[in-house]
Amino acid sequence: MPKLHQRKYRKITKQILKRMAGYQQMSDAELQHQTQLLQRQVNGQRRNLKKVLPAAYAVVCEASKRVLGLSPFPVQILGAVAMEDGNVVEMKTGEGKTLTATMPMYLHGLAGRGNYLITANEYLANRDSETMGKLYRWLGLSVSSAVPQPGQDADQRDLAKIYQANIVYTTNSTLGFDYLFDNLAKTKEEQHLPSFNFALLDEADAVLLDAAQTPLVISGTPRVQSNFLGNADQVVKLLHQDRDYQISDDRKNIWFTPEGIVRMEKYLDVDNLLSHEWRDLYCHLVLALRANYLIKKNRDYVVHDDEVVLIDQHNGRELPGMKMQAGMHQAVETKENVSVSQEQRAMATITYQNLFRMFHQLAGMTGTAATDAKEFLEVYNLTVFKVPTNKPNIRIDLPDRLYITNQAKLVDSLQVVKQAYAQRRPILIETGSLELSVLYSRLLLQAEIPHSVLNARSEVKEADIIRHAGELGAVTVSTAMAGRGTDIRIAPAVEKLGGLLVLGTERMQNKRIDNQLRGRAGRQGAPGESVFYTSLEDKIVTEHSTRSVQKFARQHAQQQQQLLGKKSRFKHVIDRAQRFLANQQRAARFETLQYGEITRLQRKAVYLQRDQIMTATDLSAIIQKTFHFVAHEFVYHRGYQNHGETLLEFIYQNIDPSYRSATDLQLESRKQQESRLLQLMNDRLQRLHEQLVDQQQWLYFQRVTLLRAIDQGWIGQVDHLEVLMRVIKERSIAQVNPIYEFQREGQKAFDKMKTVINLKAVQNVTNSEVIIKKDGKIEIEFP
Ligand code: ADP
Ligand code: MG
Repeated sequence: MPKLHQRKYRKITKQILKRMAGYQQMSDAELQHQTQLLQRQVNGQRRNLKKVLPAAYAVVCEASKRVLGLSPFPVQILGAVAMEDGNVVEMKTGEGKTLTATMPMYLHGLAGRGNYLITANEYLANRDSETMGKLYRWLGLSVSSAVPQPGQDADQRDLAKIYQANIVYTTNSTLGFDYLFDNLAKTKEEQHLPSFNFALLDEADAVLLDAAQTPLVISGTPRVQSNFLGNADQVVKLLHQDRDYQISDDRKNIWFTPEGIVRMEKYLDVDNLLSHEWRDLYCHLVLALRANYLIKKNRDYVVHDDEVVLIDQHNGRELPGMKMQAGMHQAVETKENVSVSQEQRAMATITYQNLFRMFHQLAGMTGTAATDAKEFLEVYNLTVFKVPTNKPNIRIDLPDRLYITNQAKLVDSLQVVKQAYAQRRPILIETGSLELSVLYSRLLLQAEIPHSVLNARSEVKEADIIRHAGELGAVTVSTAMAGRGTDIRIAPAVEKLGGLLVLGTERMQNKRIDNQLRGRAGRQGAPGESVFYTSLEDKIVTEHSTRSVQKFARQHAQQQQQLLGKKSRFKHVIDRAQRFLANQQRAARFETLQYGEITRLQRKAVYLQRDQIMTATDLSAIIQKTFHFVAHEFVYHRGYQNHGETLLEFIYQNIDPSYRSATDLQLESRKQQESRLLQLMNDRLQRLHEQLVDQQQWLYFQRVTLLRAIDQGWIGQVDHLEVLMRVIKERSIAQVNPIYEFQREGQKAFDKMKTVINLKAVQNVTNSEVIIKKDGKIEIEFP
């Protein structure tokens, strides 16, 4: 971070503090009135916000004292200033980011709607909109939470009201899904989201980095089930590793060997498995191979009463209702011999990367960002700005304890827990997976140590447990993401014992998450301690270091001395594995970004067209253009899209099923055919127009039929792109440039989609039946 910014931000912070002193004298009414004065100055223009920033922030600070009883620290104001300048602000856990956020949120709220605070989960969105809402409302701005209230269903929300607010607290997935649904609407009234003006992301690294790989998908109509599932699964189960298939060192990729292909051809009695003829079967074999040998029960999913339930990789939580995409879920169900669920077609998708890149202005805050500063800049154009802590951090971070075997590590770490428990010092045990947290809990039970486990199904319960994790004698087992965003306060008696002790049972996927865990101790200048217990058998080591490490571990598994000293040649083995993995994940995110970019451009074009149709007051030009396109396409491409149908067939099927003609249409010239088609389409259109004399009704009819055509085409395209991406990625090992291939194929499909949409539009416009109801509403029956 350049010194220049530091200085600028500090200067503005000083100005704000000075203004605050002035506001102290004001009566409540006077202070509240400032909002109106500021709104007048901003005049609905976002570009005026910078000008009023010092005044607006000072108003919030003074109001916070009066309404919440919290007086923001200078470092919080500094953080808030940096947020407004396009930064991901690093403020340590417990420094008060929730309050800090009210300053930029209020500022943007002054300009109108479309300002979002993105929290890490639904519980926090409801909690923070509630507690901080008092402040905004007191100052005269409206605020809402977009996530369902506890016990409420997502579709029971009053969306119009929610998105009317100046400031909306929500989660990334709620925002993403609401956005996608908005773009399936038929009328402006059914759309609720205001334009994307400002988003401030809490726990920004979790949203922008950890969740970046998960696309949001709205699923619709079921796909036809393949009958290859069972066969593929049986055959794949007969194969042997290394002979028939191979797995990459990082255990992320798997592929058939030539010998494996030959073997399967024999089992399945087919000639050339790799030929086009068997493409579908081959796809299912690849899925079955992944399902059987890469995807692991009790790590990636669990089986509950005849159902495969996925597990969230970051927090170990079960994800009921979530499905792996593009046939993978069904392959796993077949492997587990449970009933195979219907595979749904994707209707609308977006990645988080693209969702957030749509905002005019973006900012973030988190306890851990600095390690990934480069990626924030490259992908989101956000710099990382580190804010010092309010009080000096006195937490002691001990060096790792590295063992040869997992067993030795766990036994020794348990001694530490016992000791802490005997002293009644609170201890938080962090595991990298649900599996390990369950195992650790069992060890504690055997040792007769009462404890809480944080893998509760509900975020509320989790928050409740973690809140008490700093009390005397508390022993808490938790997975990495669980409970994020909830403050762990410690009692004065605990301070004397050295504060909260955080014990990591393994190092996590990357340094950033390690830091996140350490940060749970020693908040706000309190004492605290953190240490990681690691071994050469840890997941990160076995999956991401050389085989020689594992060989050493195997050979020395029985050795007396299991703890490896400072001089051990394996001292850096975990740092190296983490770096390797971090690079890989970064590359994967860039890849997703590149694939996503192709989909993004197509989605943008389609949504733009939808918008134009929805807002237009006259659609006749668009309809005439469609007519011309279709007539031309039929006449000059040997039937529509080279289907070779005759003109008469084409008219029957698409324009007028009652058409009769005395002349042989095939003998007409192209010009004659084209004008005959145009004439017919316009006749049919006229027929409907005569029924719908009311201008509004006529417009409504045209709009709905056109939108329906677009959606029919686009939804098919979305699903097609999903499948295309999967197929191309699977073939990618042999391919020079899969992204280029995806782009080319995707573009071809997009062009084809356009011809489909045009034809559907003609069908809808010429062949729908309308019924006019008594109340003037019309009902359309599509062909
Ligand atoms: P973070 O999100 O940065 O981890 P929180 O926003 O959860 O931290 O705040 C941690 C605790 O600090 C909360 O209990 C909050 O009320 C308290 N806090 C925040 N700002 C102040 C302040 N200026 N003065 C006193 N307490 C504060
Ligand atoms: Mg927080």
